[in-house]
Amino acid sequence: FEVPIAVNEPILDYAPGSPERDRVLKTYKEMYNETIEVPLYINGKDIKTGDTATMAPPHEHKHVLGTYHKAEKKHIEEAIAGSLEARKKWSQMPWEQRAAIFLRAAELIAGPYRAKINAATMLAQSKTIHQAEIDSACELIDFLRFNVQFMTEIYHEQPESTSGAWNRLEYRPLEGFVYAITPFNFTAIAGNLPASAALMGNVVLWKPSDSQVYSAKVVLDVFREAGVPDGVINMVMGDPVMITDTVLDSPDFSGLHFTGSTTVFKDLWQKIGTNIHNYKTYPRIVGETGGKDFIVAHKSSNPRQVATAISRGAFEFQGQKCSAASRCYISKSIWDDVREMVIGDVNSFKIGSPEDMDNFFTAVIHEGSFDKLASYIDQAQIDQNAEIVVGGTYDKSEGYFIHPTVIKTEDPKYATMCTELFGPVVTIYVFDDNKWEETLQLVDETSGYALTGAVFSEDRYALEIAVRALEDAAGNFYINDKPTGAVVGQQPFGGARASGTNDKAGSKLNLYRWVSPRMVKETF
Ligand code: GLU
Repeated sequence: FEVPIAVNEPILDYAPGSPERDRVLKTYKEMYNETIEVPLYINGKDIKTGDTATMAPPHEHKHVLGTYHKAEKKHIEEAIAGSLEARKKWSQMPWEQRAAIFLRAAELIAGPYRAKINAATMLAQSKTIHQAEIDSACELIDFLRFNVQFMTEIYHEQPESTSGAWNRLEYRPLEGFVYAITPFNFTAIAGNLPASAALMGNVVLWKPSDSQVYSAKVVLDVFREAGVPDGVINMVMGDPVMITDTVLDSPDFSGLHFTGSTTVFKDLWQKIGTNIHNYKTYPRIVGETGGKDFIVAHKSSNPRQVATAISRGAFEFQGQKCSAASRCYISKSIWDDVREMVIGDVNSFKIGSPEDMDNFFTAVIHEGSFDKLASYIDQAQIDQNAEIVVGGTYDKSEGYFIHPTVIKTEDPKYATMCTELFGPVVTIYVFDDNKWEETLQLVDETSGYALTGAVFSEDRYALEIAVRALEDAAGNFYINDKPTGAVVGQQPFGGARASGTNDKAGSKLNLYRWVSPRMVKETF
């Protein structure tokens, strides 16, 4: 029995005068002028607790988009109890029915919800239309379609049988519920973490990032319209410590699907370890966390390619990608060319609100992020061993705008070469042309992360040395390309070391984590 073959959703270009551009702009303006309330969503019911927080666009933080309601402990307990009740039917539902619900969700996003999900991402996360189209609409459609295909491939993987005995694997969901904690930076990831676990028959308690509730609500509406039954995906907001403690205290907690910071993930792992005697099962722990992603360019590499990789890899999406290039090692003989080209690129960026669709670059997510980035920039202005090559200014009077900033340092262990900043600041270290192997060792040793990385070289021998030297330094490794922009179904995404459990989002590896197979041997 076949399911539709998954294909990547074509990315629309929103050219001036195109119907999609007019539609998304109209939707953006309507949503901008409307004030909404986002309730909790528990067991098919919208719950307004009266304890609310405000939502505002990062590029215009005085404008109110609405409020979301915050849960009390009792709401989390109700959501857990309700999801366990819902699990009774959901886990028994034929997989074809579950597949159909999520394929329908993909088509709803591709069609009637596309403008809304993009406009919500532009407003809530300050993405340009092109960033939103890639990260919310298309990537979420791709996750849903490809996961359905991978699911069927998994379910068809069966052991050998003999004439006297039939061996069959039943891919049961986990016994309990899954806790999905999702990040602000990708609306698609926010949708995928609850959806992929639910697709495999699990029930999910979903806590979106406080900074992304506005667009999470649109994703939730899609799931509801697509037919996800009550209690299967519950969405809760509120005090993260209270929510997490309540969830992890439950004996039925059976899995964590997480994208976010390394520190939070390690804390969660530790709490799960502390509670391990209380659980009915060993919880599955799946996390994609931080990165300190590199570009390393050999003297043989093409300066234009390297400069584009820095400009796009570090500054697209305001640098707010786990995969964003943030430390670069450039061979001395190409540095002058690369430097001029990157300065030219950055000076050509149009910066401002996403409402102006010609803007390439907008605001960072919130004041905390802005202040952190600004303090590293200030420090680089005064440090002897650092120099600002381009950028270095910032302004939060209207929105949280950090100018794309390139720092050059003489110290390969300078603070911004090692610390994840999660924003539009990239640091360059220039190395001697004859120190390729020493530099590769430095790349490998400098950060504890291993998410993405890119090597540039036209010299095949130098390239081969790099490929081997950096074997464990990146879960997604790029040769002569920027380290960002993984596409579902083409480059499964995830990293190791402090960057996560490397269960590759958008792949079978990830889906295997959400099943607990029963091996049945029937003898005749
Ligand atoms: N998959 C994205 C990329 O390759 C990054 C996802 C993330 O930031 O978590 O650029």
